[in-house]
Amino acid sequence: DSVFAHVVQAPEDPILGVTVAYLKDPSPIKLNLGVGAYRTEEGKPVVLNAVRKAEHQLVNDVSRVKEYLPIVGIAEFNKLSAKLILGADSPAIQQNRVTTVQCLSGTGSLRVGGEFLARHYHERTIYIPQPTWGNHIKVFALSGLTVKTYRYYDPATRGLNFQGLLEDLGSAPSGAIVLLHACAHNPTGVDPTLEQWEQIRQLIRSKALLPFFDSAYQGFASGSLDADAQPIRTFAADGGELLVAQSYAKNMGLYGERVGALSIVCKTTDVAGRVESQLKLVIRPMYSNPPIHGASIVATILRDRNLYDEWTVELKAMADRIISMRRQLFDALQARGTPGDWSHIIKQIGMFTFTGLNAEQVAFMTGEYHIYMTSDGRISMAGLSTKTVPHLADAIHAAVT
Ligand code: PMP
Repeated sequence: DSVFAHVVQAPEDPILGVTVAYLKDPSPIKLNLGVGAYRTEEGKPVVLNAVRKAEHQLVNDVSRVKEYLPIVGIAEFNKLSAKLILGADSPAIQQNRVTTVQCLSGTGSLRVGGEFLARHYHERTIYIPQPTWGNHIKVFALSGLTVKTYRYYDPATRGLNFQGLLEDLGSAPSGAIVLLHACAHNPTGVDPTLEQWEQIRQLIRSKALLPFFDSAYQGFASGSLDADAQPIRTFAADGGELLVAQSYAKNMGLYGERVGALSIVCKTTDVAGRVESQLKLVIRPMYSNPPIHGASIVATILRDRNLYDEWTVELKAMADRIISMRRQLFDALQARGTPGDWSHIIKQIGMFTFTGLNAEQVAFMTGEYHIYMTSDGRISMAGLSTKTVPHLADAIHAAVT
């Protein structure tokens, strides 16, 4: 008998499991709105032209070798990543008090940051929004932090529960870590306004809470890299400390290349140097050092004016297509006279719409219309197209009437 005979079957991941179910469905009209990956109008994944060109340059550069990278990754990639998120004129960067390490996409950056905090920070409780990306809970719990939640979403308005957020962060213990989605909150698509961000910042600083930004969608929400980074930049501008986990999965379409960065903005150069030395001790036994290819693509694009400009145009086109899908779905529901207020579809931002459909309605739409999404009613707008909007609108209409 197997020594593993007692191992029980684990459940599918709630998000990735949606795709597993979708792939098993033989229906020609099936539609996958589960996983957050960009698709073209034709429903195809894309490799950006800027990425293709960067890869071309890399392949033709015979001086490149396959040696191990340093534990912290490619130095130039790290510098350019910090600049991209904190801004070209960031005082923290100019004052040399930011440490950046290349990590395995957004997830790996969160995990390395979480483990660093569990080892070296005095308050091991992290507050995450309710709801949040499901993986946050596991990533931070396994990092050794205690995970608590703060109110974020109000089902009644399908918007921000700002009062609840302020109350919960206001009663958090001094020093607690606060996980903030930099933009395009997943799964709700609900972001604070800049005025609300300012109030959140004041509260966080007055209570000496430690902000940890998750930036998985810079440029993908509004189409502007600067606008989407604004909340982080206002926190950095006050001189206080913060962490930020960056992912290039969505904004450069580098999902499977696993390229991201963790930056820690510190008070002084000296502290930043010591923090970096400890980040290396977190990374070394975890995966030794990061992969070369994805970070080389990113560095090639970020350092080259033409490639950078081409990338920003392509990024804006992706963001604009998603925004136009919101409008089309909203209009299609209006045209059908679907009962209820669906204005949240156009008010929410980023890859996802939190429809407000319940698990039963989702199951109905999957069973009757072969539309796949997470059971919390989250749909990926990036998986929709002009052709598939009517089918989705029919399904939603049938589910609520
Ligand atoms: N944070 C959030 C909020 C996300 O939505 C995602 C991607 N689904 C990630 C982090 C991490 O993604 P990745 O590891 O692919 O960069």
